[in-house]
Amino acid sequence: MTAFGKNKEDPLKYVNNIPAENPHIQIKNKEICIDNCENKPCTYYCPGRVCSWSDEEQAIQVDHTRCIECGSCPWGCPYDNIYWEFPPGGYGVHYEI
Ligand code: SF4
Ligand code: SF4
Repeated sequence: MTAFGKNKEDPLKYVNNIPAENPHIQIKNKEICIDNCENKPCTYYCPGRVCSWSDEEQAIQVDHTRCIECGSCPWGCPYDNIYWEFPPGGYGVHYEI
């Protein structure tokens, strides 16, 4: 299975994204991911595939440049362990209609 599951299209194909230098998404406590979160849902509910598990780092890796600002982060993590805010003005996604 590809990184995008059944839908092989990369959602970033449909947006103009100007990522800010500083991440607007952060894992609050990496230990919670390891000790409490068996299924790590952030690695599959995010349509932008922003979060991924690294065996090497033993931590969730966050690629904020892939965020399409769907707003699911604060709701999808069962431990309220993701800090998310909109990118600063002028940065982030610009949807094409
Ligand atoms: S869903 Fe939340 S607690 Fe679980 S791995 Fe992701 S960030 Fe960590
Ligand atoms: S806001 Fe949406 S696209 Fe951005 S990281 Fe959270 S779940 Fe992924």
